[in-house]
Amino acid sequence: MNFEQFSFDPRIRAGIKAAGYVTPTPIQQQAIPAVLKGHDVLGVAQTGTGKTAVFVLPILQRLTQGPLGRVRALIVAPTRELAEQIHEATVDLGQRTRVRSATVYGGVSKKAQVEALRRGAEIVVACPGRLLDLANDRSIDLSHVEVLVLDEADRMCDMGFLPDIRRILKLVPARRQTLFFAATMPEEIRELADSILKDPVAVQIGVIAPAKTVSHAIYPVSQALKKNLLLATLEQTATGRVLIFTRTKYRARNLARDLEKRRYRVSALQGNMSQNGRQKAIDGFRNGRYDILVATDVASRGIDVSEISHVINFDMPDTVDAYTHRIGRTGRAQSTGEAFTFMTQGDEPLVREIEKVLGKRIERRRLPGFNYQHR
Ligand code: AMP
Repeated sequence: MNFEQFSFDPRIRAGIKAAGYVTPTPIQQQAIPAVLKGHDVLGVAQTGTGKTAVFVLPILQRLTQGPLGRVRALIVAPTRELAEQIHEATVDLGQRTRVRSATVYGGVSKKAQVEALRRGAEIVVACPGRLLDLANDRSIDLSHVEVLVLDEADRMCDMGFLPDIRRILKLVPARRQTLFFAATMPEEIRELADSILKDPVAVQIGVIAPAKTVSHAIYPVSQALKKNLLLATLEQTATGRVLIFTRTKYRARNLARDLEKRRYRVSALQGNMSQNGRQKAIDGFRNGRYDILVATDVASRGIDVSEISHVINFDMPDTVDAYTHRIGRTGRAQSTGEAFTFMTQGDEPLVREIEKVLGKRIERRRLPGFNYQHR
């Protein structure tokens, strides 16, 4: 199986080649033909499966024909980071085409975004709030949208964007192609999808469980010893890029500081940082300036840094879903990764739930030579 089978325009084939994609991932194999035929698609897939290209490539294919200079594809995503990442995929894969993509999200000035729209963009990648804002100002015209993508729709609903999404649906033509992606499909998301999609082709990649290429391990430890255990783990483990999760912004900042004092190349990534600061942290992680990122769940949404070798749950996530999202950052596309979770006594019920979803018990480990008595 290779990308030739889809008969993309030669300019798009060149973009695929430049991105280094050789074999389509399972969701690409299943969904791209349906999207190319113009069907609505309901995709249940998490980050790391290659889902972005499932909509980006067919959108580029569609836009190489027909008029330029008006917004014909609208991609809505929950966070700025994810919007940027999708935008980058459109730029990378579409580098040989004349298709332009613009981003629209809050937290930064409107001016540059309005100007980019004025210069002309066929693809807009947007977060809901700012998009409605610009639509209100008449800075963006959505009346020519042919394809609407809702990415990480479940997360958008979690974040309270459902009313905004309903408003956006009223601004785009009723006759359109709609592609709906979610990592999980609870009842309310299924109902939302049913109300939006017309005869969708459903594509589900695996059960909704963390990527199979990740090996999981649990390190039982007391709260007081977590930091020492982390330091010892980092010393003893051959790691590449490491993403560490904490429960709060405060803990992320402090842990990053502690690691920095020990000369690790590390940055925090949390919601109190400016958009600029967060982008710098992510870019620095991607280009190798930082080896470690200490993040909170919300701030980490949409990070796409390939080849994260380790995800370390310094604090347990709140839900099984959050665990899945965190772990989705490692073992991406073709590589493998490890997920370490520090478990205190109170975390046991959630660990059991995670094990149910994984369908197996997660190995408990003790770090050799670590003093579990010492405080
Ligand atoms: P996504 O799930 O869309 O966030 O993609 C996860 C990562 O896999 C991104 O870094 C993509 O660039 C990469 N990727 C997507 N499709 C392929 C493919 N067919 N071959 C290799 N890498 C891919």
